Amino acid sequence: MVKVEHIGIAVKTFRSAIPLYEKLLNTNCYKTELVASEQVNTAFFRQGDTKIELLESIEPDGVIARFIEKKGEGIHHIAFEVKDIEAEMARLRGEGFTVLNETPKKGADNKLICFLHPKDTTGVLIELCQEIK
Ligand code: ZN
Repeated sequence: MVKVEHIGIAVKTFRSAIPLYEKLLNTNCYKTELVASEQVNTAFFRQGDTKIELLESIEPDGVIARFIEKKGEGIHHIAFEVKDIEAEMARLRGEGFTVLNETPKKGADNKLICFLHPKDTTGVLIELCQEIK
């Protein structure tokens, strides 16, 4: 894996979370993007070589809404950049990890993504992402 590409943080509402992170990181949110397939709105902040991705549910019973219901707001996933996502998925399957997607799917920020089941990764939801060229 190349680096931590971003850290995903589940928030109840962008209305308060975006200004809060702009103050915290002392940088403007440079992009918001709706990922309809995941029922989620995303907001991005650059921080050095990595990013913070805020996640807001657009449905009362969406993945992020259910996450917040169970655990409250907070870190939702850590995303690692990979050069070849299909090769990395095959490698990790071979190592016994549960890859939650059969094939990579289109994520926010021009990326192909997939997730690893947290039961195999000490409770941390791991995302792999590869830039779409
Ligand atoms: Zn992410």
